[in-house]
Amino acid sequence: MSDPRRELEFFRDLGVADVFLEKAAPASPSVSVGSMPDLPSLAKFLEGCPRCKLSKTRTNLVFGQGNPKAELMFVGEAPGRDEDEQGLAFVGKAGQLLTKIIEAMGKKREDVFIANVLKCRPPNNRNPEPDEVATCRPFLFEQIRLIAPKVIVTLGTFAAQAVLETDEPIGRLRGRWRSAQGVKVMPTFHPAFLLRTPERKKDVWEDMKLVRDFLAGK
Ligand code: URA
Repeated sequence: MSDPRRELEFFRDLGVADVFLEKAAPASPSVSVGSMPDLPSLAKFLEGCPRCKLSKTRTNLVFGQGNPKAELMFVGEAPGRDEDEQGLAFVGKAGQLLTKIIEAMGKKREDVFIANVLKCRPPNNRNPEPDEVATCRPFLFEQIRLIAPKVIVTLGTFAAQAVLETDEPIGRLRGRWRSAQGVKVMPTFHPAFLLRTPERKKDVWEDMKLVRDFLAGK
């Protein structure tokens, strides 16, 4: 019976006088930029996050880690298998290469903050879907506001496009200063891409020299 009127008449004729509807479950609140006092409060707010379908398949939510007052912040795409298991960003093979890149810039991992656009692993590391980016990005933007870095380095296509809110290809974005959320942004290639395509490491190094020199006031 798909006609709602006929359906109600059917129940009336059965003698049903009242219809009780279950209250809709309240939507999980998102975060508006500016609403959190500090990073630990934001991390607590996200504990057990049910806001998208990745909550059903993740092992751990990966908030990101590092210096909460870092002048340099790296933003990747989403946790992979190692990150999902450990609850930490960039701890697998790509993460080891990222550590080398950070150290080549004269910094330590503890000096910087490392986060992802998505806080939960997509099954089999598939690409993030638009609804997942739309749900999770406000939390990244709140992290950016609270950390207030001088520079954000985005790693790979998805991070660049999500942070800059653009669909321009990485080939055009890479190596050029942009800005987002009031912060300078340097898009570069993802370390996982460099593991497959080591000949592009020199491009990333050119980008990181621009960042290093900017932070050194050169
Ligand atoms: N790739 C990412 O984009 N982020 C991680 O944390 C690990 C791998």
